[in-house]
Amino acid sequence: MVKELIENALDAGARRIEIATAGGGKNLIRVSDDGCGIPAGELPLAIRRHCTSKLGGGLEAIDTLGFRGEALPSIGSVARLSLKSRATGAAEAHEIAVDGGRPDGPRPTALSKGTLIEVRDLFHAVPARLKFLKSDRAEGAAITEIVRRIAIAFPEVRFELAGPDRSRTVFEAVPRADRLHRIDAVIGAEFGDNAIAIDAEREAVRLAGFAGLPTFNRGNGLAQFFYVNGRPVRDKMLLSALRGAYADVLAKDRHPIAVLFLSLDPALVDVNVHPAKADVRFRDPGLVRGLIVGAIRQAFAEAGL
Ligand code: ADP
Ligand code: MG
Repeated sequence: MVKELIENALDAGARRIEIATAGGGKNLIRVSDDGCGIPAGELPLAIRRHCTSKLGGGLEAIDTLGFRGEALPSIGSVARLSLKSRATGAAEAHEIAVDGGRPDGPRPTALSKGTLIEVRDLFHAVPARLKFLKSDRAEGAAITEIVRRIAIAFPEVRFELAGPDRSRTVFEAVPRADRLHRIDAVIGAEFGDNAIAIDAEREAVRLAGFAGLPTFNRGNGLAQFFYVNGRPVRDKMLLSALRGAYADVLAKDRHPIAVLFLSLDPALVDVNVHPAKADVRFRDPGLVRGLIVGAIRQAFAEAGL
């Protein structure tokens, strides 16, 4: 859910995204951005199912991050949702609230810029679903992880993740002109000095990023960052390809560290297999696997490793 809200902010061209949570997100998730905002007249549409302002190229050609007009309506049906927004150039901001699927508003409110979304009491409307959530601590850690992953893909955007009263900053990333600086800020400053740049292409599938040197072993099972067309994904095939690339140079009990961006025609990949949108389905998985294994092995070979 945090992922969808951040994706909406990015789609809106935000340069600053602040996230605050309480109770691992169960009590509160607040996301505010300085993006283009939503005109008052469109607020009721934003929370209606299948209302999206982003289709155009058809479902197959998705260049914005979210696309089905599902996020806000589904949140509004299971939690207390409040949406404040001031569209660029608008004289005032407006607010709309949704509780148990029932909208209230829009009415004028105070907000200087962008959009502020608050989700309170997650699943209060469907308590049965609460038991599928993990502990506050584990849910909080998952939120931190997703913010870190998204931050890597958008170095020019400032991210702040804090506790409910903003007293405790959990994660912060200042805008960076280049990606490696942001990567270092997120996963540790030594990574850049101990990684090899990857840049390869096969049949219009491009792979770019950084692969940690086999001798640089600070990683764990969370140190593999994959992006498909700018969107963070966690996918078994991609992880296994990465392991394959390191098979000859890294002990089996070690985890490779890598940040890899795949770019390809959106029609050749489905990033929406799973509702959490982390899994991907490639039209030609063999091609992608071969590209990853081949590019990393070649980079290591060229570096004499
Ligand atoms: P989708 O992102 O798939 O279009 P959502 O349910 O996530 O659907 O959002 C519905 C609509 O609300 C979006 O199409 C967009 O027009 C608007 N919207 C949501 N969040 C923001 C935001 N942070 N800034 C500007 N517009 C937003
Ligand atoms: Mg969305």
